[in-house]
Parts: sequence; C-alpha cells; structure tokens
Amino acid sequence: MQVPAEGGCICGAVRYRLTRRPLALYVCHCTDCQRHLGTAFGMSMIVEAEGLEILQGDPKLFARDWPDGRQWRGRFCAGCVTRLWGEPVRVPQFRVLRPGALDDHADLVPDAHIWTRSKLAWVSIPPDVRCFEGQPTDEELLEVIVARHEREQRVWT
Ligand SMILES: [Zn+2]
Ligand SMILES: [Zn+2]
Repeated sequence: MQVPAEGGCICGAVRYRLTRRPLALYVCHCTDCQRHLGTAFGMSMIVEAEGLEILQGDPKLFARDWPDGRQWRGRFCAGCVTRLWGEPVRVPQFRVLRPGALDDHADLVPDAHIWTRSKLAWVSIPPDVRCFEGQPTDEELLEVIVARHEREQRVWT
C-alpha cells in the first residue's frame, strides 16, 4: 500500500489522510465484529495515531464500557454512521482503522486472520496466511507486524 493514502465516510463529510505505512492488516471473525458490523467479518488496519490526519469534518466519539472491563472507543461520521477507526484505550498511540473506507482499498491483503473459530463456514482463507483461533497475544501480534515489515523491506529494496 502506498502512502499518503486518503479515505473518508460514505457521505463525504469526514475525510482523512494516512501518512505512515500501516503496521498490520488483519481480518477478525469474532462474533463481536459480526454483530457490531452486521456482517461476516471485520477488517482492521493498525496505524500510528500520528500518521492519521483528519482533513475535513468532525468524526464523533463512540464510547462503550463493557461489564467485563473492555473499553470500546472509536470515531464515526454522525451524518452517515460510517465507522472510521477505533482508538484503543490500552495503546493510545495506535488507531485501528476500518480500511474499507480508504479510497483505494482494492489491493489490500490481510497479514492474518483472527478468531477463526467463529469464522463463517463458507469463508475460505488462503493457506499461507497466519491464522489465530482466538485473540492473538501482544507477542503474536508483534510477530505479525514484524513479518509484514520484513515482507515490505523485500518489496521496497
Ligand atoms: Zn459521513
Ligand atoms: Zn472482532
């Protein structure tokens, strides 16, 4: 993926620019993503908060604290309810972008699939992609980030 890259919500009120290369891209098959997004799986791109600039609009904050201690924070467009990115409380230096809202997303290929134990039966994952049955540990996530970085070094040098 080339940076800078721009994206925005479906009504056009919110526009943003990504100025740093993403750290990781994964597909999540968890039942929260399925329900929250109302679809088969979610796609998430981990980016550095400093590399995400709002060009236009004022995305609203979504905040929800769950009884089990999980804290959801994210931004969406109030006009069209496009979910733009998550703002993880535990690691505020990152954003979890919904990369389908990037203008140019046709060539995005996930580095990993997570929560495959609740994957819909018809979704088939290519054999060479890293899979996790549940939530990867921080260490495993770091391995995914490093593997992506090494792949990109090979492509770009
Ligand atoms: Zn909008
Ligand atoms: Zn999920």
